[in-house]
Amino acid sequence: MNIHEYQAKEILSSYGIPIPRGRVALTSDQVERAAKMMGGRCVVKAQIYAGGRGKAGGVKLIHYPEQAQEYGKELFGRNLVTSQTGPEGLKVRRILVEEAVEIAREFYLSITLDRESSRYVLIASAEGGMDIEEVAHKSPEKILTLIIDPLGGLRPYQARKIALELGLFGTVCEDCVELIMNLYRVCQEKDCSLVEINPLVVTKAGWLMAMDAKITFDDNAVYRHREYPDMMDYSQLDPLEINAGKYDLAYIKLTGSIGCLVNGAGLAMATLDVLKECGGEPANFLDVGGGATREKVAEAFRIILQDKDVKGIFVNIFGGIMRCDVIAHGIIEAAGEVHCTLPIVVRMDGSKVEEGKQLLSESGLNVQVGVNLGDAAARIVQMLG
Ligand code: GDP
Ligand code: MN
Repeated sequence: MNIHEYQAKEILSSYGIPIPRGRVALTSDQVERAAKMMGGRCVVKAQIYAGGRGKAGGVKLIHYPEQAQEYGKELFGRNLVTSQTGPEGLKVRRILVEEAVEIAREFYLSITLDRESSRYVLIASAEGGMDIEEVAHKSPEKILTLIIDPLGGLRPYQARKIALELGLFGTVCEDCVELIMNLYRVCQEKDCSLVEINPLVVTKAGWLMAMDAKITFDDNAVYRHREYPDMMDYSQLDPLEINAGKYDLAYIKLTGSIGCLVNGAGLAMATLDVLKECGGEPANFLDVGGGATREKVAEAFRIILQDKDVKGIFVNIFGGIMRCDVIAHGIIEAAGEVHCTLPIVVRMDGSKVEEGKQLLSESGLNVQVGVNLGDAAARIVQMLG
């Protein structure tokens, strides 16, 4: 689960990490008033669930309040497209107005989960700012990493080593040690899968400050934090993803044309692999879960049908706990509602498989039943070919 920059900064601030003074505006008039409060010169920042705003015109240094208002109008009026948003971009509903800070140096600092070691890893670089991806790609030796032992936790001497390697010394170095320790506390106590400060800056006056912040909460831990659901900005999410969330379906939009309805994450992965091998391009990853009900299958089918990129549907279900006839009913219910004429190929196995297949073939839908997974995948690819 993502949150906005200003929310991430509030959290950092509550852990003693210095951030610029700022205000969130919902209208361009508020942007102007906030700019006045900051003394005219300020930085106006579009709040969207994506980075790369600096290069896309979503972050701007402003010199007087009227200019802030004008820029606010422009941002609120259109979708912001950055290298991280996809071609449609994201709607700007909130704007952060911050005091302008004179920057002397920019660093990169983050803590995230390393899937390989199954541990938190701290990543830092003296070459922070907007081109960190390029630094990581072209000169990986400039990226410092430290895998954190979950039992011992992060130790101040380790944080100090990082701060020194970043080229900091004296009181700024000690401030940086404290900041890194606090960032690790945020990560643990707030159940984050990522906390990122880019850039972390040393101001011309010599203070350390988080100029940008990104926090991603671990979805599996959201239930432990009652305040998290209210922090979500639904305007930043794909409406289909919101619906999937309501029904506890794992849905991820992909770029192809074959909608996939599968039960179980492992089977879903295998399904995508087999489709790809047959030359097909999946439009999504949709897992209805092991014990899916008829309602859940119907809702999953509705979500797939609302995706305009879907030209055909591939259903791959193993009916264990879940009976195949129940699944067939769910499909027929959802497809019938919208008079779906798209080609559907079903591969089913398990309890009541014959009943399920019969229901589908008598349903009047444009449906074929595959003999096995390979055969079914080849069929849907061929039908769309
Ligand atoms: P991102 O591009 O989405 O990561 O947005 P950032 O918040 O990182 O802003 C992009 C860049 O704007 C930063 O790397 C800074 O160089 C610059 N920036 C942001 N706030 C200020 C500020 O208060 N003063 C100055 N001089 N530059 C800023
Ligand atoms: Mn940034």
